[in-house]
Amino acid sequence: MKPATFDYAVPRTVAEAVEALGDTERKAQVIAGGQSLILEMHLERIRPELVVDINRIAELDGMRVEGDELRVGALVRHTAFESPDAVPGPLGSLLAQAVVNVAHPPIRSRGTMVGSYGWAHPASEWCALGIALDATVELAGPDGARSVAAGDYFLGPFLTARRPQELITAVRLPLFGENTGVSFIEHRRTHFCFAQVAVGTTLTVDDGVISDVRIGLVNSADRPVRARAAEDALRGTELGALPAGPRVHDDHPFARAGRIAAEQDAVPLPEPFADVDYKRQIIAVLVARTLLEAAKDQCARLAARQEDHR
Ligand SMILES: Cc1cc2nc3c(=O)[nH]c(=O)nc-3n(C[C@H](O)[C@H](O)[C@H](O)COP(=O)(O)OP(=O)(O)OC[C@H]3O[C@@H](n4cnc5c(N)ncnc54)[C@H](O)[C@@H]3O)c2cc1C
Repeated sequence: MKPATFDYAVPRTVAEAVEALGDTERKAQVIAGGQSLILEMHLERIRPELVVDINRIAELDGMRVEGDELRVGALVRHTAFESPDAVPGPLGSLLAQAVVNVAHPPIRSRGTMVGSYGWAHPASEWCALGIALDATVELAGPDGARSVAAGDYFLGPFLTARRPQELITAVRLPLFGENTGVSFIEHRRTHFCFAQVAVGTTLTVDDGVISDVRIGLVNSADRPVRARAAEDALRGTELGALPAGPRVHDDHPFARAGRIAAEQDAVPLPEPFADVDYKRQIIAVLVARTLLEAAKDQCARLAARQEDHR
């Protein structure tokens, strides 16, 4: 199918883009990478009267460290995160582990992290990480700029707190110190499918005790989920000796946290090849595994730091 006809605006500044979007007479869509929007327009599930192409707005490009945060501009493509060195510290490793699960290389070379926030697919890896990490979404609109915490931003499937006249200019993510370990694991039917379930985890350990933990669940509800009940069950727990293999015993705190995430935090929706029980089982397993991998990563970072100090 071909898209219905539409007008096309190519602003050069954020102010011009906001002005174009402010035309409330017409239903407008921003186009960034176009990897979701173009498909939807071809299927005529979205029929914008105006498409605002932000690809020539230089101020939206690039990512940089600002204080203890990474600021990712609206034109930064998925592929920018494929090297763990692109972003400093554990956050770089986490983003690099996650990004290889986002679609496939041609889509990653055009699609943007911020576009994923614009689209708000419940199976988006970036959106679940954003909610787990307390990301901040920067918006520019006719009334000026505002910031929204990711926890208040995702309101449902493809539904966000962004107003139709607003442009997302950037997403800010917190950087982590070397006492934090990270892990991201995804379960999907084939490499080209969206996740049936995926989990991204950060684990911060001080003096052998878990001082902070963030768990993001992908495709485990009608929106990205932060597994707060599971996190609460883990904070303050002594890490103890870690098993060498990829699994923990059923009575290990990580396994218990997995069951809590599956039963209390997730509200999975059935899909043709993954019913609710199946998804809950996968969530429990992946939460436990990502916690174990994050703990091992934290230990490895600690050992590397001690080696550097010798
Ligand atoms: C076959 C296939 C497989 C895929 N697999 C995955 C996957 O596994 N995981 C995953 O997360 N994604 C997947 N995607 C989606 C892909 O990652 C998209 O790139 C991403 O969802 C949107 O990024 P984009 O820059 O292409 O946005 P676009 O397609 O340009 O826009 C998407 C929506 O967001 C809005 N938008 C974009 N940027 C802004 C902005 N700056 N301000 C306001 N609104 C904005 C647009 O108006 C539109 O409504 C897949 C897509 C395809 C076609």
